[in-house]
Amino acid sequence: MCIACRRREPQSQLLRLAVLKADDDRIVVDADRRIPGRGAWIHDSAACWKRARAKRAFSVALRAPGLTGPEPAPEEDWDHRKQVLRMDSV
Ligand SMILES: [Zn+2]
Repeated sequence: MCIACRRREPQSQLLRLAVLKADDDRIVVDADRRIPGRGAWIHDSAACWKRARAKRAFSVALRAPGLTGPEPAPEEDWDHRKQVLRMDSV
C-alpha cells in the first residue's frame, strides 16, 4: 500500500523506503529491497511523494520519529531522479 494515497498495489508497482542505519539514521529509497527492518511503500510519482512529505508519512510509516523523508526531486526532474536511483543501486 502506498503511504501517500493509501491505494493497494502489488509491491512490484511501488518503491520501497527503509531506514538506513548509519552514523546518522536516514530514510532512503531501498532500490534493491535489501535493507532489513521495517519498510514503507510509495508510488514512484511526484504527486505521492509530495503528499507523503506534506503529512510526514515517511517517519510515521517507518516509526522513525524525527527523521525526514528522502528529499523530493522537483517534478520536472522526476525521470532524472529515477535514473540516479538506478545508478545508486548498481
Ligand atoms: Zn500513491
